[in-house]
Amino acid sequence: MLRNDQLDEWDRENFFHPSTHLAEFARGNVPNRVIKTGSGCHITDRDGVKLLDAFAGLYCVNVGYGRPEISDAIAEQAKELAYYHAYVGHGTEASITLAKMVLDRAPGNMSKVYFGLSGSDANETNVKLVWYYNNILGRPEKKKIISRWRGYHGSGLMTGSLTGLELFHKAFDLPLAQVIHTEAPYYYRRADVSMSEEAFVQHCVDELEALIEREGADTIGAFIGEPALGTGGLVPPPAGYWPAIQAVLKKHDILLIADEVVTGFGRLGSMFGSFHYGIEPDLITIAKGLTSAYAPLSGTIVSDKMWKVLEEGTDKLGPIGHGWTYSAHPIGAAAGVANLELIDKLNLVENAGTVGAYFKNALNEAVGAHANVGEVRGEGLLCAVEFVQDRDKRAFFDASEKVGARVASALLEEGVIARAMPQGDIIGFAPPFCMTQAEADEVAGKLGKAVKSVLG
Ligand code: PMP
Repeated sequence: MLRNDQLDEWDRENFFHPSTHLAEFARGNVPNRVIKTGSGCHITDRDGVKLLDAFAGLYCVNVGYGRPEISDAIAEQAKELAYYHAYVGHGTEASITLAKMVLDRAPGNMSKVYFGLSGSDANETNVKLVWYYNNILGRPEKKKIISRWRGYHGSGLMTGSLTGLELFHKAFDLPLAQVIHTEAPYYYRRADVSMSEEAFVQHCVDELEALIEREGADTIGAFIGEPALGTGGLVPPPAGYWPAIQAVLKKHDILLIADEVVTGFGRLGSMFGSFHYGIEPDLITIAKGLTSAYAPLSGTIVSDKMWKVLEEGTDKLGPIGHGWTYSAHPIGAAAGVANLELIDKLNLVENAGTVGAYFKNALNEAVGAHANVGEVRGEGLLCAVEFVQDRDKRAFFDASEKVGARVASALLEEGVIARAMPQGDIIGFAPPFCMTQAEADEVAGKLGKAVKSVLG
């Protein structure tokens, strides 16, 4: 085993870490943490420090760490056949079984699943399918994609454009011209104190209508949104938001892409966020929870309506010109099958709902009354606490005070990982679905201490 100082040196000299302040890391001002093992909701680093991971990695290790059912399935698949491609009708038992299992769990109007590697490439596939669809239907102008400010859909060129966060645009010449953004359903931050939720939903609808009017419905192919906003702030939508938005999209013949990378396979306490909020998407993006991140795998679930046109397209143009070497990788597929079986066997979707409600309540009890806590919100095991300078005026802290990041650091000192969300003073919690009530109490209690140490 390498010595710690050697590993540290190699890390800082060779490893380009994503989403990291590169210069500060090189200077040694960003600590490196080398993770060694994981079990249930906990990870342990190479120094033996054990942490309760209340963000499940990047809200992806949904069944928890160290599940032999999944690692054994991966090992068996690797021994039997580590790789074969899925082009021109090829597959493996694992990939075919997983496609069936995904469709069995998805909304009824869904027809097929295309497998990729990451949430980003699955959304890339979605956009290409929207464009292909409209080309085949003879509407080559109908191509723009509407996304929401604060939405998160990946960090490629197209998907980074769809992502509505400044950090992902500035200095990368994004967004691309085909992407336009509209209001996010973020009631707490965007509505003024006197505005009702109902009025705010109407405001979101009006903004969308105005955008469509300005751009022309015949130039807009699709709208993409996460059922509940994730990286942009962990915000469940206000009641009535999705039916109202969907009515506008239907009226203008605009396709709907539900990005369920975070919400798919149970995080909200329903198998899909689309069930939870009554969304009827034309395409669904899946990734993280598909394998609980035991292996990289993502997918695009395609509706009957779009599938018919895709078949028609290949009759006209020949085989579809879209594929990755690793589409439906057998190891990822084997992990996916074992993961979905485990979710069922342990009733983890139901647990995400019940322990999620318990957890939100515990967070509320621990910090809800604090003068600088503006909102404790959540749905299932997707929860957040937002800090404000003044509760009554709903006045936010200056970003330079880094209140959210400081609370997250204080919480880490207590042995709990939560995520300081990238925009705003928001601490996010998205633990594995196997979290117990005792662990929920522990996280909430330690958050109480952390908030006290930072904000008094
Ligand atoms: N969509 C959503 C909703 C996500 O949260 C993420 C990742 N956090 C992505 C897409 C992109 O997934 P990946 O990082 O696997 O490319």
